[in-house]
Amino acid sequence: MMSVYSEAIERILPRVQKPTRYIGGEWNSVVKDPTQVDVRIALAFPDTYELGMSHLGLRILYSLLNSRPDIWAERVFCPWIDMEAELKESHIPLTTLESETPLRQFDVIGFSLQYELNYTNILTMLHLGGVPLLASDRGENEPLIIGGGSMAFNPEPLADFFDCILVGDGEELILDFLSKFKALRRAGASKEETLKELAQVPGVYVPSLYPTALDPKTGFLLPQSIQGAPFPVKRRILYDIDRYPFPDDVVVPFHEIVHDRVSVEIMRGCTVGCRFCQAGIIYRPVRERSPESIKAVLEKSLRRTGFDEVSLTSLNSGEYGSVADLIADLMDDFQEDRTSLSLSSLRPSSLNERIAEQIRRVRKTGFTMAPEAGTQRLRDVINKGTSERDILFGAENAFRQGWEVLKLYFMIGLPTETDEDIQGILDLAHKILRLGRQHARRAARITVSASSFIPKPHTPFQWLPMERMEALREKQAKIRSGLKNPNIQFKWHDVEISWMEGIFAKGDRTLGRTLLRAWERGCRYDGWTEQFRYRDWVAALEETGVDPNRFLYQRLEVGARHSWDHIDSGVSERYLAKELELSLTSVPTDTCGIDKCYGCGSFARQCLSGELVPGKMEEKSEVEAPRPVPPSPPPQPRHRYRARYHKVGRMRYLSHLELSRSMIRGFRRAGIPLAHTEGFHPMPRLSFASALAVGVESRGEYLDFEICRPMPPESLSRRINQCLPTGLGLDQVAEVETGAKSLGELINAALYWVRLQEAPDAISLADDLAGKLKGASHLKVVRERKGQTEELDILPSIYRISAAQDGTLEMILRLGGSGNARPDDVVRGLFGPNASARIVRQDLLVLLEGEFLSPMACRGNDPTPAAVVSA
Ligand code: SF4
Repeated sequence: MMSVYSEAIERILPRVQKPTRYIGGEWNSVVKDPTQVDVRIALAFPDTYELGMSHLGLRILYSLLNSRPDIWAERVFCPWIDMEAELKESHIPLTTLESETPLRQFDVIGFSLQYELNYTNILTMLHLGGVPLLASDRGENEPLIIGGGSMAFNPEPLADFFDCILVGDGEELILDFLSKFKALRRAGASKEETLKELAQVPGVYVPSLYPTALDPKTGFLLPQSIQGAPFPVKRRILYDIDRYPFPDDVVVPFHEIVHDRVSVEIMRGCTVGCRFCQAGIIYRPVRERSPESIKAVLEKSLRRTGFDEVSLTSLNSGEYGSVADLIADLMDDFQEDRTSLSLSSLRPSSLNERIAEQIRRVRKTGFTMAPEAGTQRLRDVINKGTSERDILFGAENAFRQGWEVLKLYFMIGLPTETDEDIQGILDLAHKILRLGRQHARRAARITVSASSFIPKPHTPFQWLPMERMEALREKQAKIRSGLKNPNIQFKWHDVEISWMEGIFAKGDRTLGRTLLRAWERGCRYDGWTEQFRYRDWVAALEETGVDPNRFLYQRLEVGARHSWDHIDSGVSERYLAKELELSLTSVPTDTCGIDKCYGCGSFARQCLSGELVPGKMEEKSEVEAPRPVPPSPPPQPRHRYRARYHKVGRMRYLSHLELSRSMIRGFRRAGIPLAHTEGFHPMPRLSFASALAVGVESRGEYLDFEICRPMPPESLSRRINQCLPTGLGLDQVAEVETGAKSLGELINAALYWVRLQEAPDAISLADDLAGKLKGASHLKVVRERKGQTEELDILPSIYRISAAQDGTLEMILRLGGSGNARPDDVVRGLFGPNASARIVRQDLLVLLEGEFLSPMACRGNDPTPAAVVSA
């Protein structure tokens, strides 16, 4: 979709890293007519495109909101540092991907609040979008800034910047919120009236309606209820998550994202009750999707996206009621088209042979375990619910089933931790490595990660202090020196970043000033080690007079008030306090559920009814019979084809890898039965001719592919074109004889059309060319490569060059091998080092016995001489 900013954005895209983060136009992205909707909302993710696009909440809300004809939800991500600089330099506002509309023009901007160290990025996005940062500075016509996600459970550090914070499950909440917003706007309500009314929607917190007062005991600013707004704000809970089926039309990115696959949430909540885990509390109670709805969503998702990987996600996937049967059913369906499956957050005890065998039927994905602590005593303190036996059992099974790399996650700085617990991490890692040596098929390797424990709001540890930085550094050093084995890699988090995270996790409203000051000092992307600016944060805290120690290092009595007490997670303080007490005496609490309920929250009745976990109820009434794994599928028959295709418009920013992925996904969406390679990692049999430089358009590219059953070429091209994004399409498809040469063996030249930016007329261009090339023995250019300059003689690379009537330069250049000139080299060689031009690759060619042939004519063992291309 073109906007007034499209051209300006086009100009800066060639200068930034990973331009496909910013081009939009992805498959399944939604474009609506803005005049036909009542509410326009920008779903803003304050981190990179690849992280935001992987986020399940964003996927759910995008699909849900766009299913409503009166709402148009678009996406916007935080531009990376280079893009921020380019936007500022060119005075281009931050716009959404779908319509390239500046953020200030939206009715609502909804931020996903997932991580404390994204907060400065929120300010960057508002600023670039032309929106005043402070809620108090925004007038009647400015967008409403809202946020939701796990950080909504201590929203105070963000209170100055947000109009509303939505607390709890988003599906019903956002729809109720936007419906009310729409009605209020229709009724002509002022901003003040709108906020007061919105505060009455259950789950909505409007910070401006809650002034703060200083708690003399702790020094915290505590929100007060004095204006009739609900107190506390109760978290919204969606009990029947199947009422909102998981989206099957997620946007398919060009750029590789962190979770580049279909991910389906099979269950919300977790029964284990790890005492450090905020998610384990704020997503209670456990609610399962039915196996039928999961299977239906996956079947449609794979067809509508073309992904070849599926992930079943939850906080604890192995506990899903009928997980083994679900996996077996899915693997039966997936095996033929080589779709792989992974389970997130699988506890070691859940990786029994039955589950592992099923997962390995298609492709192995990584295996991760999170023992969290090195000794049983400390695992009991944190109520990890995992014994060493479970961990070793899971590791052994993983190695036996063919995994070679295991990732182990630990935390350091946990309550009551001693040297013995740190030694326990080293011992456990070495024991697992020994198991790997015994059971893995090849050399086993282990990655040990140690993050710093941060006491989080709404957990039993919320009253405890964080460990000081020096002690954390010493523990990291001890682990590092104790894991000096080439097969063990140790990864750790910078303690300064954890320190910052701790401050904002437990901080109050005073931090709004600090956040603003740090952002003004240049802090961005604080969760990224290379971007984190510790000194600027220290300076910002000093300049705003905030003592972070009161958030980080105070040991509070149970009953002391926190700055998040006005947000009711649904879990009682009594339960949290009891868990803290048990923790400090290393007494674990068993997994909860229908058989054993501790009455932790307001939802005990729903938990005990069993209606939230239908799969589990079924499992209890039947004993699961082991299901044999079917044999591997027989070798596939193969039929080979060649296609000529174009890659134009914004598609020119796709790298070769992105193009290949997009093409394969298009084939899969079209239901084309691509043949795969044999072996451990089956890959689709699809090969491309020469790679094209990012930013160059082409009207004549080629690919060969093999499919499992013959299909008429016209039908293939029609079906595939219906499933490719705009700018990418097949122009010709034809069968290729078995034994014909590959594209790589054939193609040795390329035809380019080049239009100089400051174009002389055609006659003077032709004269100019003739003058420069006549009798020349060489034509030298200097080009930069990987930071080095090299001199290149471009003359041997030029087969033909001429100026057309309209002033376009047509050139056929040599391709393949090394030392060949690119078209931009030729432009600079002929017209000077500063000459620039718009370059389009028109075709790839086969130079054979002095004639240029089309690769489409070389599909047999003998090329057809009739297919000469005139150039
Ligand atoms: S109410 Fe009972 S079953 Fe439900 S989450 Fe709390 S302890 Fe578990």
